[in-house]
Amino acid sequence: MSDEVVLSRPLPVITEMNAYFWRSGQKGRLEILRCEACGLYIHPYAALCPRCRSEAVSPEPVSGRGTVASFTINHQPWFPHVPVPYVIALVQLEEQDDIRLVANLPGCPIEDVRVGLPVEVCFEQHGDIFVPLFRPAAGADRG
Ligand SMILES: [Zn+2]
Repeated sequence: MSDEVVLSRPLPVITEMNAYFWRSGQKGRLEILRCEACGLYIHPYAALCPRCRSEAVSPEPVSGRGTVASFTINHQPWFPHVPVPYVIALVQLEEQDDIRLVANLPGCPIEDVRVGLPVEVCFEQHGDIFVPLFRPAAGADRG
């Protein structure tokens, strides 16, 4: 039972534009689109850099480290196989303040979650989809 996958939402539909994101976990790392001209990270996918309008955007590996920027505790049993309550967090990646991913924090007790908690990415595999999730970073001070 403890190995059972806990997802708060259905699996994503993979398209040519988002496949890099959902499959990068296969390589054991998270990849975010980045502008080759000005270095801006872009998420979600965009065909143009919103800062310099360059079309030279391509996925680049990021550290997978971030902090919890915000979170909510879901008590609503949206999906019958997912036990409640669970945390839905907005994780801000360390590479850039405005790159934020919505993710679950499986394995982190709800009472330990706080804004500013250092976290690191981990993945749950579903076929060829690797859903990015986060867990408290190794050695993180849980305050
Ligand atoms: Zn740019």
